Amino acid sequence: MSNQWIYLNGEYVTKQDAVVSVYDHGFLYGDGVFEGIRVYSGNIFKLDEHLSRLYDSAKSIMLNIPYTKEEFQDIIVETVRKNQLETAYIRVVVSRGPGDLGLDPNKCSEPRIVVIAEALALFPKELYERGVRLASVASRRNRADVLPPQVKSLNYLNNILVKMEANQAGVDEALMLNDQGYVTEGSADNVFIVKNGVIKTPPVYLGALEGITRNTIIDLAKQLGYEVQEQPFTRHDVYVADEVFLTGTAAEVIAVNEVDSRIINNRKPGKVTNHLLSEFRKLTTEDGVKVYDSKEKVQVS
Ligand code: PMP
Repeated sequence: MSNQWIYLNGEYVTKQDAVVSVYDHGFLYGDGVFEGIRVYSGNIFKLDEHLSRLYDSAKSIMLNIPYTKEEFQDIIVETVRKNQLETAYIRVVVSRGPGDLGLDPNKCSEPRIVVIAEALALFPKELYERGVRLASVASRRNRADVLPPQVKSLNYLNNILVKMEANQAGVDEALMLNDQGYVTEGSADNVFIVKNGVIKTPPVYLGALEGITRNTIIDLAKQLGYEVQEQPFTRHDVYVADEVFLTGTAAEVIAVNEVDSRIINNRKPGKVTNHLLSEFRKLTTEDGVKVYDSKEKVQVS
């Protein structure tokens, strides 16, 4: 098998050589930002939106990315191309870089920029047919005025803690509430409910990441004629919803069949969920930044 090439500060290096310092504040303190992006058949989906979110996250924590968005886009495209990938997952990481053992980011020399592109192990088809189980967890979402959930930072402990609680409860994913008890999101996905034909998702200010898939689904649903409301709701609304689904780069649109032991839609993915998933998949084949010219052939080794 040929080498996997990883972009690291201006160079493409092998996986073994893709190393950063133990003094990097990304490692020491979770000081940095990241993105997870998907490539569908050689098209990078919503690359512009992911880059915008990356730059917004970086700006919010005063981390200066030393490239223009256009330069960064070229690096991401080249990383996918160099690895000859068609269907892939991309991880972009910008860390504060190596500093001393203190917290002060001013003592960090320069950011470390990493782009990893890997073949994507697709979620099994059965999972979309079966759906996933959720449990609401005791840990609450970071308050937006403490550590804004809109910043996709390397500090994911809040999300990891709720994932652990979901594991302990024996379910697939956590349902995170904010400090006031309103539903926010899952550990790594946004949540939607459908009631009487109306689609609802929590507004991001309650404490959710502004998911790219979330926004895509909101736009798509509106175009398809559904009413979409970004409104606060509670666990009760989730329990009595006609349908519940999660959205995310990895999961796309996936039905929820049970929440805190309340069965949703007889454990079957609902009509609206299935409709949105199929329309979303259509979009992923049409949209995106092309990695290869139409004449170019991917040589999969
Ligand atoms: N919420 C959180 C906390 C996440 O980590 C993710 C994954 N990036 C999402 C929601 C879904 O966002 P997106 O659709 O942009 O992948």
